Amino acid sequence: MTDLPSHRHAWRLRRRPTGDIAEGDLAYAAEPLPALAEGQFLLKIIYLSLDPTNRIWMSDMEQYMPPVGLGDAMRGGVCGRVIASRKPGVDVGQLMAGLGEWADHIISDGTAMAPMPMLPGLSLAAAYGTLSLVGPTAYFGLLDIGQPKPGETLVVSAAAGGVGQIVGQIGKIKGCRVIGIAGGKAKCDFVTSELGFDACIDYKSQDVGAELDRLAPKGIDINFEQVGGDIMVEVVKRMNLFGRMPLCGLISSYNDLTPTEPPGFWTMILMRRLTIRGFIVTDFMPRYAEAAQTLAGWMLSGQLKTRQDIRPGLEHAAETVKALYSGSNFGKLLVEVSPPD
Ligand code: NDP
Repeated sequence: MTDLPSHRHAWRLRRRPTGDIAEGDLAYAAEPLPALAEGQFLLKIIYLSLDPTNRIWMSDMEQYMPPVGLGDAMRGGVCGRVIASRKPGVDVGQLMAGLGEWADHIISDGTAMAPMPMLPGLSLAAAYGTLSLVGPTAYFGLLDIGQPKPGETLVVSAAAGGVGQIVGQIGKIKGCRVIGIAGGKAKCDFVTSELGFDACIDYKSQDVGAELDRLAPKGIDINFEQVGGDIMVEVVKRMNLFGRMPLCGLISSYNDLTPTEPPGFWTMILMRRLTIRGFIVTDFMPRYAEAAQTLAGWMLSGQLKTRQDIRPGLEHAAETVKALYSGSNFGKLLVEVSPPD
């Protein structure tokens, strides 16, 4: 039996960030690990998922679960291996994934945790990075809310990111014309050449409105919205009657709480009878198995490719997470906390 650690390393929230996450908002330190109580198990973390919502959880803005408390370990999605268990039905060696903490080990009673299946032919990073959060978000947001039909035009922002890359490929599977919007030529080349999107607009060097006019002369039927701000406004301006807009995220505003819509924005939504529905992937939790099964099938058959951006070192997590807001991540952002065996 492996020697169990007496201490762990973890990040704790010390201060709520104002604007961008700053040095000292989070603190990284070693801390004692208590003994396992009956019904608990100890997870050695392999991957920590870094997600745009981390910034929301650090704040006390209106949100969909309680903010992380000051002094508490930072909340995060994790995948790891059980190294000790006093919980019946949870065995040493088992892979588990769910909601945990920014730490190298966590003690869990199984709440918000589920066994992580290993899929032959897929790396753990690809399976975890795709099936645990971003894949179900893309799947339910596009299929249930976006209701794509063959021949329709779908626009997806943050197109080369964790969720966006999957949305565009599901759109293609469903017969849509897919236009991505992403920051930089490399990301645009990736989604068109590697993932099969029909077109991609580099919002950092191109005029989004003019490019949408050129690429979608008959208008846009579905806007899978992940960014908000000016990019969203340019897309909405070109939406067709009865268009649908799964409102998945508003990352351009997570560090800046004073977004404004231009005059006439809501009138445009009324007159075009658009359906806009905000959603959080956990709304669909009872149907996760359906998403995981379909997504895994597409991955194994080669219809769905996913890219992970794996960074080493839990000790760098507070710096690494900033990549999501600057756009320097390229694919689903994961921290490798310990090597997958
Ligand atoms: P990504 O991998 O897409 O990373 C975030 C990307 O957002 C960056 O790479 C960057 O891409 C883009 N971005 C950041 N700031 C801006 C900005 N100011 N303007 C334009 N683009 C920006 O992250 P995820 O796939 O994990 O998440 C994507 C979105 O989906 C987020 O809004 C997130 O909150 C949301 N989400 C929602 C869920 C839900 O349940 N509703 C669940 C999971 C995610 P680029 O280089 O192209 O600018």
